[in-house]
Amino acid sequence: MSSQHVVAGLDIGGTKISAVLCDRSGTVLAAGVVPAPAREGGPAMTAAAAALVRSLEQSSGLVAVAAGVGAAGVIDQASGTVRAASESFTDWVGYAIGPELSNALGVPVSAENDVNAFLMGELRWGSVAGSEHAIGITLGTGVGGAIAIDGRIMSGPHGAAGEIGHTPGYSELVCTCGQVGHLETLASGRSIEARYAERIGAVGTSGIAIAELARAGDADAAAVFDAAGHALALAIATAANLFDVVDVVVGGGVREAWDVLEPSLSRTLAQNAPISGIPLAVHPARLGGRAVALGAAALAWPLAVDGAPGIATEADVAAPASPVGMTA
Ligand SMILES: [Zn+2]
Repeated sequence: MSSQHVVAGLDIGGTKISAVLCDRSGTVLAAGVVPAPAREGGPAMTAAAAALVRSLEQSSGLVAVAAGVGAAGVIDQASGTVRAASESFTDWVGYAIGPELSNALGVPVSAENDVNAFLMGELRWGSVAGSEHAIGITLGTGVGGAIAIDGRIMSGPHGAAGEIGHTPGYSELVCTCGQVGHLETLASGRSIEARYAERIGAVGTSGIAIAELARAGDADAAAVFDAAGHALALAIATAANLFDVVDVVVGGGVREAWDVLEPSLSRTLAQNAPISGIPLAVHPARLGGRAVALGAAALAWPLAVDGAPGIATEADVAAPASPVGMTA
């Protein structure tokens, strides 16, 4: 075994599985990505994830002493089991991804929702590094949310805390979840495309193209991003007041359109300052596509101490507090 301590961080999504091997400072020493066999069920996903980690270990000469998973869906951290997931996954609900991957790799594995892992990555090494209290929001296909208090992810009794995308009152539109008016109906990448299509009466313009149109002064494109930024700001203002959190990090694909999203976001936030009087700071995410894997790795470090006491070092023991993970 290599003398260098590394953990594996995995980002398990509906289309791809990406993984990193990184050290305690968050330095990525190996990284890779494979297609996710989400239609083939949990065991196929586990096999693909384990094979990816093994290939990174072989190419780098490093051996992970623990692994962390950030997975799509609602994840029960205590059991490492998927509690809810989208339809793009077959036989994923009820699957014990944490224990199964632990069996496959032979090391302890912690499992977390991918947005929670995203926030942990940005909190440890990204745009809200140094903050202990932050809200994370991902604007991707859907809208995900996560809350960290005292440096720990707030999971909730069902692993579903922070689901800001499915809070109501922002529109009269039907959400992907079937309910009406959720933040996701205006602020997700898919919604931005749908709202623009409704305005111009034609489908097929990508989010990237709509952002370009907004930059060029297209009124319909600008209105769609204005509505997204306004709704996002209201959700952020509500969450900031509820949790006394003033640092917010926004990631996901729509983050790439930050320049056209930010003006209405800032306008609305300026009119809805937290009652604490402390100004809100909303930051675009910094770690890009690696935030989830890096955050999952950060969440796995305590297991490297608990699960393999023979290799704990003083630095390991002095590591920052982290949520309770699943110990194999
Ligand atoms: Zn919804």
